[in-house]
Amino acid sequence: MADIKSGRGIQVLIPSTDHTFTLNEEALEKLLLNDEVKDLPVVVISVAGAFRKGKSFLLSFFLRYLYQTYNLKVAGGEWMGSPDEPLQGFSWRGGSERHTTGLLLWSHPFIATLENGDKVVIYLMDTQGTFDSESTVKDNATVFALSTMLSSVQIYNVSQQIEEDDLQHLQLFTDYGRLALESNTGKPFQRLQFLVRDWSYPYDHPYGAEGGQRLLEKQLSIRENQHPELQSLRRHIISCFEELRCFLMPHPGIKVATDPSFKGKLSDISDEFKQCLKEFVPMLTAPENLIVKKIAGHSVKARDLLIYMKSYMNVFSGSTLPEPKTILEATAEANNLSAVAEAKDVYETLMEEVAGGAKPYVQPALLQQEHRRARDKALHAFNSKKKMGGDEFSASHSQKLIKELDEQFEQYRLRNDDKNVLRRLGTALVLAAGALA
Ligand code: GDP
Ligand code: MG
Repeated sequence: MADIKSGRGIQVLIPSTDHTFTLNEEALEKLLLNDEVKDLPVVVISVAGAFRKGKSFLLSFFLRYLYQTYNLKVAGGEWMGSPDEPLQGFSWRGGSERHTTGLLLWSHPFIATLENGDKVVIYLMDTQGTFDSESTVKDNATVFALSTMLSSVQIYNVSQQIEEDDLQHLQLFTDYGRLALESNTGKPFQRLQFLVRDWSYPYDHPYGAEGGQRLLEKQLSIRENQHPELQSLRRHIISCFEELRCFLMPHPGIKVATDPSFKGKLSDISDEFKQCLKEFVPMLTAPENLIVKKIAGHSVKARDLLIYMKSYMNVFSGSTLPEPKTILEATAEANNLSAVAEAKDVYETLMEEVAGGAKPYVQPALLQQEHRRARDKALHAFNSKKKMGGDEFSASHSQKLIKELDEQFEQYRLRNDDKNVLRRLGTALVLAAGALA
C-alpha cells in the first residue's frame, strides 16, 4: 500500500529563469486523469504565504493524518506517530537558502467518502515562494494567485500577526471575485483559512480556532476612520469567500525554530504546538469537514482541474500579472470546456452502447438515428450546466461541440462500415468452406 515514504511532492508548476512558468502536464495527467480519480470531485488543500514560515513542515502533519485516515482507514486514532520518528513529506528545511518557486502536489491522492456517501479525492498542494528580491514579486504573486484559484481550502500561513500587508495580497482575488459575483454563479471561493504561526499573545486571544476567529473579526472589521480603500478591501474579502477562518498556532519550540539538526521528531516539538495540530489538521481534513472545490456553483472533478490549470496558464504565463478580467475570462473558458468534455462523455457512452468496438454491425439509418439521439442528449447536458462568460460565449462552444460530435460520428460510421465488410467476408468464407466440403 502507498505510504508516506513512497510519496513525494511533485512540482507541477515549474518556474524558468525569465520569471515565466510552465505546467508539468505529464505529471498532472498521471495525477488527475487516472481512472480511479478522474471523475471524482476534488478537495484541494493548499498552503501559501511567505517563504520559510513552516508551510511544508505543517503539511507533513497533514500527510500523516491523511494516510492514517484514508489509506489505513483508522479513524480517530493516534495519527501523529511515534515520538522519535523523523518527519517526512514535502521537503522542508532549516537554513535560509533560496528555494525555487512553484506549486507542488503530493504524489498520492487520497480518496475519501463523505458523510452523504459521495466519494471525493483530496489533493495536497504546497507552494514555494522566495520573497527575497524585487524580481520575484511577480513569481510569488503568481504562485499565490494560482494556488488560491485552484484550491477549495487555502491555508494562508502568516507569521505572528495578520498584518495589513497580508490582507493587501488578497486584493487580486477580491477584484476577481467582484467580477465573478456579477456573473451570479455564487461565491467564487470556498474557504480562506488564516493560520497565524508563533502567536505570542494567548492572553489576548487564546490559541486555536476560537481565538483565531476573534482576531480575524477584529482585523477584518470595518471602522469609520479607516481609509476607504481599506474598508472596501475588507468588504470584498468577506464577500468573495464562503468561509473565512483563522487559527492561532503557538511557537513550536526552540529546537524546531533554530536547531539545524532538527529532523522533525515529535519529542522535539512543544506540547502546546502538538495539541493545536491535533485540533487543526482534522478541522480541515476529517471526512465531515472536507470542502469540495466549486467553480460557478459546480463541483470540480479531477479532470476538470487540469482544464482549469491549462486555462490559467495561458493567462498567468506572461511577464506581468493578468488583470482580474482576464482571469475571469480564463475561468469562463475552462468552465465551458469542462461542460464540453462532459457532454462528449454523454455522447460517447450512448454511442458505445450501439456502435462500440465489440458491438455488431448496425443498419446505417439506425446508426444515424442513434447519433441524433446521443447528440441531443449531449447538447442537453451542455446547455443545462450553468456556465460563466455569457450566452454568446457558450453558444460558440456549443457550435464547436456539435462539430466535434459530428466528426466523432463519422468515425463511428466508418467503423460500422468496416464491420459490414468483415461480416460479408465472413459469410463468403462460410459459403466457400461449404462449397469445398
Ligand atoms: P516553508 O518555506 O514555509 O515551507 O518553511 P519550512 O516548512 O521549510 O520550514 C522552515 C523552517 O521553519 C524549518 O526550520 C522549520 O523547522 C521551522 N518551523 C516550522 N514550523 C515553525 C513554526 O511554527 N514556527 C517557527 N518559528 N519555525 C517553524
Ligand atoms: Mg516549503
